Amino acid sequence: MDLTIEGKVYINGDFLDCCIGVTDGKISAIKKILKGDSHYRFSHSLILPAGIDVHVHFRDPGLTHKEDFSTGTMAAAFGGISCVFDMPNTIPQTTSLQSLSEKIISAGKKAHVDFGVYAGVTDGNIKNSEDLSKKCCGFKIYLGGTTNSLQFDGDNLKETLNRINSTNKPVLIHAEDEKCLTRHKARENNLVDHFRSRPAECEEAAIRNILKISRDCNAKIHICHLSSCEGLELLRNRSKNISCGVTPHHLLLSAKNNLEPQARYKVNPPLRTDLDREALFDAAKNVFVDILESDHAPHTKEEKDTDFDEAPSGLPGVETMFPLFLFLAKKEVISFQRIISLICRRPAELLNIPKGRIEVGMDADFIVVDLKEETRIKSNNLHSKCGWTPFEDWSAIFPTHVFVRGEKVIEDNEIQVSQGFGKFVGD
Ligand SMILES: [Zn+2]
Repeated sequence: MDLTIEGKVYINGDFLDCCIGVTDGKISAIKKILKGDSHYRFSHSLILPAGIDVHVHFRDPGLTHKEDFSTGTMAAAFGGISCVFDMPNTIPQTTSLQSLSEKIISAGKKAHVDFGVYAGVTDGNIKNSEDLSKKCCGFKIYLGGTTNSLQFDGDNLKETLNRINSTNKPVLIHAEDEKCLTRHKARENNLVDHFRSRPAECEEAAIRNILKISRDCNAKIHICHLSSCEGLELLRNRSKNISCGVTPHHLLLSAKNNLEPQARYKVNPPLRTDLDREALFDAAKNVFVDILESDHAPHTKEEKDTDFDEAPSGLPGVETMFPLFLFLAKKEVISFQRIISLICRRPAELLNIPKGRIEVGMDADFIVVDLKEETRIKSNNLHSKCGWTPFEDWSAIFPTHVFVRGEKVIEDNEIQVSQGFGKFVGD
């Protein structure tokens, strides 16, 4: 056994005093007492599975002044995330086998944690889904336009889902209805204008359509970043192959004047009312929501701090997601069981990867958390290239150690691996 880790370990919904044995990057044993070539004892800390972020935009290639795979995965590592899945709206977009292969090779040279990539579905490549599935970990469809999104005509949704059905890969959907968005388009000066021009009825229309069309489709369908009570309500009786996600920003922030500068918080789907926020949070606390996803979408301060209407949509979040919710779990606002299900177990199930649980046979991906290590989030201490956070000064608990495949990735507030350590999980 290469490594043993001893402490209070989260196993099947409980914290147990035990040791985890690691051989060749995998968990090979879990016992009361184990001794490997090297042994770590964390007597005052909790040992949890590392998180998985199913929704990041690392802007690489093409927009690397905002982020790149090195800084993005560094931020992920510090935030206790051992695996990220990157969205296709880079330049070039990952909509062909070639652009997928190129991104996988280039990201593989830079990554500090493991990663997967999605293929974007466009009107032009629907017919190639079988081919694309050889390289991608899943598919992404934008039913409504957003910053740098891909062109997709909602009328093609049925055919697309049927094709994806046979690939065994999940499809993630940005659920805002394009026709509805066009109807409500207006000049925007602030966050309230923004959610009025992308009202909940657009989310509702898109989800209603997905539910109707997918009735006889078994593909795994994940509805990204739910943002409204209305959308939530529609999904109440969804079938088993449909999962839904929420973001930290939709659970913790709403469209209010005190968020300054307002354009920093411009995001799609938009922040809405406190009523929406509370309903989403409640759903996340109960078993209704499957996944917490950051939708990490960095833009520089210069790009954001401009006229509201012109500013791009999106905000960073991969590094702060798990730490914010670890703090909330300590405060008993949400249970540890729920956050581990939302950030670790269910994402691994959606993407079908051997992570997200501390169990023999799984990748040895853990975080070590000392609940006394409460801190305030400061953008100066974060690692995204964009240099700001929507959660400045919020309380959080960052992991003291992060292990990926049995390798120590974070210790003493330092990254311990070099670029290229992270592996592509889609092979
Ligand atoms: Zn996104």
